[in-house]
Amino acid sequence: MKHILIIYTGGTIGMQKSRHSNALAAVDFKSLTSSIPQLKSSDINVEHISLKNVIDSSNMTIEYWVEIAQLIESNYNDFDGFVILHGSDTMAYSASALSFMLEGLSKPVIFTGSQIPIGARRTDAKENLITSIEISANKDIQEVCVYFEDKLYRGNRTVKINSQQFEAFSSPNYPILAEVGVNIKYNSSYFLRSNSKKLKVNTSLTNDVCLIKLFPSIKKEVISSMINTSKNIVIESFGSGNASDQSWFLDELSNAVNEEKLIVNCSQCLVGNVKQGEYETGSKLEKIGVISAGDMTTEAAITKLMFLSGKDISLNDKKNLFKKNIRGEITE
Ligand code: ASP
Repeated sequence: MKHILIIYTGGTIGMQKSRHSNALAAVDFKSLTSSIPQLKSSDINVEHISLKNVIDSSNMTIEYWVEIAQLIESNYNDFDGFVILHGSDTMAYSASALSFMLEGLSKPVIFTGSQIPIGARRTDAKENLITSIEISANKDIQEVCVYFEDKLYRGNRTVKINSQQFEAFSSPNYPILAEVGVNIKYNSSYFLRSNSKKLKVNTSLTNDVCLIKLFPSIKKEVISSMINTSKNIVIESFGSGNASDQSWFLDELSNAVNEEKLIVNCSQCLVGNVKQGEYETGSKLEKIGVISAGDMTTEAAITKLMFLSGKDISLNDKKNLFKKNIRGEITE
């Protein structure tokens, strides 16, 4: 008998239309599961717990991530796997953040949700939930994943790409971990292998991070005021990591590097890799000390910086850890 813990955080999966406004809002877990008799099975025992506040995931913050991580920690020895019911809007951020927070994880943590609430006739929630429970009983999975519409993804490789189709997620730079049809076909050669027996939960993340998405003709004042807000900066550049090489722009970045800020370069292209040496524009960023995020998603880069910024280590160690593959989030 496998024991699975569902952690309910909110999201469309458990939402109902409010009588007053007709807009969807999160409701409690009982009303969520009463319509799924399949949750009771002879070989998997499912228990559940909810966050103190259930939310639309657009309201997600570090404090909720800490609550989820601590719930996993305090129940770690009693369960074989965990299913996190979560809104799809920020699921890729949460799955990325949790992957960094849960160091030495050796059990499945599966994020799932739905595009249509569980009580609605055409809901995608039941399949997502039931299959996630089944997947979370697979002891070969030792990482944080997202399961959505027949596909299992590495959590920190996902991005939400569609708000209208059931297939809401993509993993642009890493193969899917399983495909679900009549059978669940696992691509186990892509699984993260853990040789750890001990889970360490890191909860000291900070939000001292900003994201600057470049566009042609962006104002100098925008760049400098954004840089001023934070010590950790993600630049979303063009193509394979290119940005304007106008001197005012390079000076802004170079001054920030000299002020010991950590600047990383993600691409606006979902598929591919930042290669700062490929074009002259990109190599100028390399020269002033901007760090390439390789093929990391922006979601992974932001949450990795939140994770690293909370660590009591030198700037150099943070830079090295950012470039290093620590949870399968980057192809080194
Ligand atoms: N706004 C919802 C949320 O992220 C959307 C969803 O669950 O799909 O909580």
